[in-house]
Amino acid sequence: MSQQNPIFIPGPTNIPDRLRRAMNVPSQDHRAPDFSDTFLPVLSGVKKVIGTQDGEVLLFTSSGTGGWEAAISNTLSPGDKVLIARYGMFSHRWIDMCQRHGLDVQVVECPWGTGAPADQFEAILSADTEHEIKAVMVTHNETATGVMSDISAVRKAMDSATHPALLFVDGVSSIASVPFEMDAWGVDVAVAGSQKGFMLATGMAVLGVSQKALSHMDEAKLPRTYFDFRDMLRANSNGGFPYTPPLNLIYGLRESLEMLSEEGLENVYARHYRLAEGVRQAVSAWGFKLCAQSPDLYSNTVSAIFVPEGFNSNELTDHAFNKYGISFGIGLGEMNGKAFRIGHLGSLTEVMVLAGLATIEMAMVDLDYPIKLGQGVAAAQEYYRNN
Ligand code: PLP
Repeated sequence: MSQQNPIFIPGPTNIPDRLRRAMNVPSQDHRAPDFSDTFLPVLSGVKKVIGTQDGEVLLFTSSGTGGWEAAISNTLSPGDKVLIARYGMFSHRWIDMCQRHGLDVQVVECPWGTGAPADQFEAILSADTEHEIKAVMVTHNETATGVMSDISAVRKAMDSATHPALLFVDGVSSIASVPFEMDAWGVDVAVAGSQKGFMLATGMAVLGVSQKALSHMDEAKLPRTYFDFRDMLRANSNGGFPYTPPLNLIYGLRESLEMLSEEGLENVYARHYRLAEGVRQAVSAWGFKLCAQSPDLYSNTVSAIFVPEGFNSNELTDHAFNKYGISFGIGLGEMNGKAFRIGHLGSLTEVMVLAGLATIEMAMVDLDYPIKLGQGVAAAQEYYRNN
């Protein structure tokens, strides 16, 4: 049953039939002269989505996490100092990866439900007069808490401190769903994955890399082989890949870019806002709280929702899956048991969101939550009717 229902986790997202068909390709010779005709326009298409003209787009066969590893290992050396704030599971994982790579991580601890602390970054960077901090790393959309951080504010903080550190941004659950302005925000490495906003199967990390980040490639001493930007760039400049490319995902990405362009990126972003706002109206009608602490932090791709005191959110998500065949996101890290998540990104319509809200309401009423059937759905319906 669950096979036929949409999923409401914040990635992997629902794959539209059109993209499933596009990924269904026979094997082809990736060294044939015509491979570049397919491949190179895909790289340019991604540039538009991430907002770069000056940077390069690199695709690696990997999930998003491998994209982070590529970003770190191509630009930094063991012992380099980096600055990261921890405000959720994914910013935490980035800290963990940097520590395991032997980097000296300065961690700013923030309450989960808040976002990147631009003011604190500015103070720390201003005090770093020797410019020991080599990179600032920010999770744009913290998928664990449903918090979207303001990357332009982080860039402003770095500029105010006149600090030359690189700016790395995890856009895994934001890129292709909400505006992302790599050049305008001065992002040096942006990381995305195929399975979220691009609506594809998992397996391709999508990176945007600035010329400034590329200028660190030769001096960076962290070991890398498979993820070496230099091999990838050399092969790309000849229209190819340094090893066997994930052909099905490249064809899928070509079609995904076409779909995003047909809808228009502005409309894609507006749709994500509308879908998210309907969910937020439902949450408010239930009398529940979002993990995101204030409206300026609300994510348009995922909402993390606290369940009332005395209820366990894992029982709710398990029940929704077992009885109704629908997956919602569980609470991650310190949110586990306390919050569930509704992913509202990728290939999704208002009608699908209403079905998800109706299902979670049934599950909640089954488990004696203090809500009535239709309470949140009606609020979302009202919002969708009028907007
Ligand atoms: N960063 C964020 C913000 C994410 O949401 C995720 C996955 O959900 C990741 C990184 C890790 O990406 P992947 O699971 O594709 O390795």
